[in-house]
Amino acid sequence: MAAKLLGMDVINFTPENSSLKKGETLYDTLKTIESLGVDTIILRHSDDQVFEQLAPKIKCSMINAGAGKNEHPTQGLLDLFTLYNEFQTLQGLKLLICGDIKHSRVAGSMIVAAEKFGIDLTLCGPDELMPDPAKLPTSVKFADFDEMIPKVDAVMILRIQLERHESFGLSAESYFKDFGMNEERMNKMKEKSIIMHPGPFNRNIEIADAVVESPRSRIFSQVENGVYMRMSILDWLLKGEEQ
Ligand code: ASP
Repeated sequence: MAAKLLGMDVINFTPENSSLKKGETLYDTLKTIESLGVDTIILRHSDDQVFEQLAPKIKCSMINAGAGKNEHPTQGLLDLFTLYNEFQTLQGLKLLICGDIKHSRVAGSMIVAAEKFGIDLTLCGPDELMPDPAKLPTSVKFADFDEMIPKVDAVMILRIQLERHESFGLSAESYFKDFGMNEERMNKMKEKSIIMHPGPFNRNIEIADAVVESPRSRIFSQVENGVYMRMSILDWLLKGEEQ
């Protein structure tokens, strides 16, 4: 949608309908797409390191649209934009992320961004789904979900990334009870604080039905902001050096 709104021609590409199916490597597929004359390649891939490995070898610009469980920079930027729109600042903002942090590229990018922009970040969720503290900036804290809810400006809820790991022992019911954002928890939040979720969300597993469309929810604003943020990223890239 972002590319279309900028008047760009979009060529959709799926691995199932490509020569990847015939054994071509991803590198050769990208080189071929580049040779077709595209200005930019937007790539989402299950490999955490795909950009580190391939982007330096590709001449046209590439946008990371999600790399494994590592990073999701355009989501990180649209999340920052959503927070900034709401509070007119990022510095010192208190953000709580709850859920499957260990396997979430959305959390991965927010952890990097929080450090850069001075966001006071706390993580919570089941122990098995928490990242190794040794791999995090020292400013990132861990705390109890219910204890933090009344103290923060924004709560970001994440889906359990079941496609990236085996189930982890908690039933959907007990997860919802211990870590789900329900109405009772939402009502304990500070007056102006907001709820975010990158989607796709699972109603009544990590977020209650009534919360998804509540006045505190910014879920659909995040989607809308994603269009503006990606328009701006494309515009910036295509203007290149002149900018
Ligand atoms: N849409 C986000 C992602 O691509 C979040 C998620 O799938 O849970 O990582």
